Amino acid sequence: MPVALRLSRQCLMALERSLAVAWPEEGCALLLGRRHGGTLHMQGVWPCRNVWRPDWPETCQPQASRSSQDEAGNLQDAHSRSDRFVVDPLELIAAQKYCRNQGVLLLGAAHSHPRGAPLPSAMDQRHAWPRSLVWISAIASPDRQPTEADRGAWWVSGSGRFQPVSIELAQTGFGKPNPGDQPYYRP
Ligand SMILES: [Zn+2]
Repeated sequence: MPVALRLSRQCLMALERSLAVAWPEEGCALLLGRRHGGTLHMQGVWPCRNVWRPDWPETCQPQASRSSQDEAGNLQDAHSRSDRFVVDPLELIAAQKYCRNQGVLLLGAAHSHPRGAPLPSAMDQRHAWPRSLVWISAIASPDRQPTEADRGAWWVSGSGRFQPVSIELAQTGFGKPNPGDQPYYRP
């Protein structure tokens, strides 16, 4: 089971910038790379659209709590893309194909929390892909650079259990990418 995740600062910046673009909604991206023993190497970020919609099937929330009234008394759904995300399935298929062709792994997915801590929600835990990496960045504002305390990574076991993975930033000189790093695979 992977216990560490290594990535360059350039890759980190590419990831968190792509997530911040969606603010105040949750941003999401697929994470590409390799695995050597217990260490995952993130080498690419595949930005994705968050395509969550109110009619997306959800089984986590009781029906009664899914709607609420706003200040004007209008009935509204309690959830939005500011606290829900779904990776565009077409992007997922495209990324899987790319990974097969390039011989890299689709490690997992990242998403942002525009509100709240970088911790997996009940929904995150319920919908995580087994045997994949989950990355969460708390991005409270698109202008503020997230710090170490604003991000977390977990490996999801085959049974769906979340195990924390330590994030190790490769110490490279400013502006000098690691060999093999391609922070953006697509515009
Ligand atoms: Zn989440």
